[in-house]
Amino acid sequence: MAETTRFAPSPTGYLHLGHAYSTLFAYRAKGAGGRFLLRIEDIDRTRCRPEFEAAILEDLAWLGLRWEEPVRRQSEHMDEYRAALGQLEAAGLLYPCFCTRAEIAAEIARSGAAPHGPDGPVYPGTCRHLVEQDRTVRRNAGKPFALRLDVARSMARAGHLTWHDRGRGQIEARPERFGDIVLARKETPTSYHLSVTLDDALQRVTLVTRGADLFEATHIHRLLQALLGLPTPDYHHHALVRDVDGKRLAKRDEAPTLRALRASGKTPEEVGAMAGLS
Ligand code: GLU
Repeated sequence: MAETTRFAPSPTGYLHLGHAYSTLFAYRAKGAGGRFLLRIEDIDRTRCRPEFEAAILEDLAWLGLRWEEPVRRQSEHMDEYRAALGQLEAAGLLYPCFCTRAEIAAEIARSGAAPHGPDGPVYPGTCRHLVEQDRTVRRNAGKPFALRLDVARSMARAGHLTWHDRGRGQIEARPERFGDIVLARKETPTSYHLSVTLDDALQRVTLVTRGADLFEATHIHRLLQALLGLPTPDYHHHALVRDVDGKRLAKRDEAPTLRALRASGKTPEEVGAMAGLS
């Protein structure tokens, strides 16, 4: 079946074999007559660099991939994220959180029994209980804050939700395990969860393929789709490429980059085979 798929790298380093697998997986999953899109996830301006983005385009072209233009660059779409955030705020589903990391850690230590979610200890909800006047005072004082999603209230609004993963079947969405996640910060009107969910809908992606490390995030994305009235694509979370010791390849482990493999004389076909796709 023809699908619209995408590869959505963050330009924070050079692509390695794990990325080659992921992008070839998405490229093949589009099927005959399908569409393949490229999205540059560059909302974190402190970690993203233009030379990494240029290298990504070059490496993908070298692998033989062709994507539809224009490439979507998240940093150019802040207004769209701001609008989606406004929609959630108007529905009363966001609240400002003024806690510092240290305050959250102290609160968790005090309570002694903080549940652990897929991303670590769950936020104890301290600022959810602030009265409006306290919020105003803190905002007016210029205190930095994050906007958190009130997950319990959001789920009450959205009701029972499911999504379909091509590898794992029908999945019941359980975003409450994350607690009240951060959707934006004072200086950045978005987050990974918000922008990825909105972009997949705006780009009309029908099949989201990505590594199994992002499987849990889909629980949140499914909730955001329901709250924002967005369609739900199909998902296929693929296994991660591991090195000979069974360790997951990651940029920080100095996994061989595609450019190093190319420089050593490997062909795109050999790199595809090394990544496990031949
Ligand atoms: N930008 C994310 C990453 O590089 C991938 C986002 C996604 O595929 O949903 O890990």
